[in-house]
Amino acid sequence: MEWETVIGLEIHTQLATKSKIFSGASTAYGAAPNTQACAVDLGLPGVLPVLNKAVVDMAIRFGLAIEAEIAPLSIFARKNYFYPDLPKGYQISQYELPIVGLGRVTIELEDGSTKVIGITRAHLEEDAGKSLHEDFHGMTGIDLNRAGTPLLEIVSEPDLRSPQEAVAYMKKIHALVRYLEISDGNMQEGSFRCDANVSVRPRGSHEFGTRTELKNINSFRFVEKAIEYEVERQIEILESGGAVVQETRLFDPDKGETRPMRSKEEAMDYRYFPDPDLLPVEITPEMIEKVRAEMPELPDAKRQRFIEAYRLSEYDAGILTASREMADYFETVAKAIEDAKLAANWVMGELTGHLNRENREIGESPVSADQLAGLLKRILDNTISGKIAKEVFEAMWAGEGDADTIIAERGLKQITDTSALEAMVDEVIANNPKQVEQFRAGKEKVLGFFVGQIMKATQGKANPAQVNELLRKKLSS
Ligand code: ADP
Ligand code: MG
Repeated sequence: MEWETVIGLEIHTQLATKSKIFSGASTAYGAAPNTQACAVDLGLPGVLPVLNKAVVDMAIRFGLAIEAEIAPLSIFARKNYFYPDLPKGYQISQYELPIVGLGRVTIELEDGSTKVIGITRAHLEEDAGKSLHEDFHGMTGIDLNRAGTPLLEIVSEPDLRSPQEAVAYMKKIHALVRYLEISDGNMQEGSFRCDANVSVRPRGSHEFGTRTELKNINSFRFVEKAIEYEVERQIEILESGGAVVQETRLFDPDKGETRPMRSKEEAMDYRYFPDPDLLPVEITPEMIEKVRAEMPELPDAKRQRFIEAYRLSEYDAGILTASREMADYFETVAKAIEDAKLAANWVMGELTGHLNRENREIGESPVSADQLAGLLKRILDNTISGKIAKEVFEAMWAGEGDADTIIAERGLKQITDTSALEAMVDEVIANNPKQVEQFRAGKEKVLGFFVGQIMKATQGKANPAQVNELLRKKLSS
């Protein structure tokens, strides 16, 4: 039988506020345990939560970006459960009336096609604390610094049909929250993670199969691996006549497998009810319009503009707008040198290559956009060749200064002095009578040999176009 995979993602993205969602404690990452948890975050009796206005604006911004309905009235609810890292005994979340309703995003797939994925809802909630197992023997430590950190949970429709689509969707949402500047999207620090709901069904069937939920996945690679494994596992069960158990599972990146964590709880298990400590959130059309007026250019619009304004291919424009930092970097270079193609080639080639090699983000590039523009200008005005430019780039990357300094200090300026080049050409011709004969007998390829000799003699500094021209003139006379 042929099986079809069905996936829906619940993405938790940490909102980039300075203080927590219901208290004034700091959200900064990496502080000593329990130094950033105030009475509200600890759930001490008698304290009252106060909503941080910044999270409402951020949720609206996200809602507008996915063309969703923003709820004029939304409600915070208590989701009751017991866990050591949840001292209140409940998490404040949104249930029946989330702040962001039905929306959509377009994802781009590897084969160049696109697909629209529905987003069921996005709601505000607080994060829980963290249990620390590593440094304790026979006990578990609790760090409540993260308790009360604002999260936006983004729930997709079960529209995704392969692990690759799930990754493309996750990447799209990641780019979006970073473009919108509502989250830093830092996956190592847990600011962007997802639960993947996975089921399979016979192809052609209209009913969904029983799903499992893979919890807390914090990398694009793991999402793909976890879903791939889970799909295989479910198909195996079904093909051997068994039934998939609806449950929550955990992905183990070391073993590359998922394993059961707990049986799936139903909404009724949580006894959701409106939090009596918090007023409903009312959002007026004026508030929405104010946020709309401040919206930045979004990835899809930017990609389209890059294609038209800079004559880039769909593919190049897609890569260059994958992050806002990358797009800004490219655009700064392209404008400075007025040659978008050259800018695109260097940003996607040399720069990205170096970044990937050292596992750095573009924001951490030791070569700034202005510095790269300075280098490319020297190619365009024939001071150096493209090949020498790579050597200069290497030196810039190592922190040796800007292009002009390096070119001067290393004596890399291209030799364009015709009489100097002419002397070299004469010499090479005089020293290689056999090759001269071959060329004159019609063996065009030998020209490359002569060019190579001169490049070798000048350590790549001769102007290639000039050398070619001189060689042809002399060899055919
Ligand atoms: P819960 O809140 O219990 O996790 P929801 O009904 O809100 O459940 O769904 C959560 C996620 O699971 C959504 O992203 C939804 O698209 C996805 N989902 C629901 N049913 C299935 C299914 N049969 N197969 C795969 N994903 C599913
Ligand atoms: Mg869920």
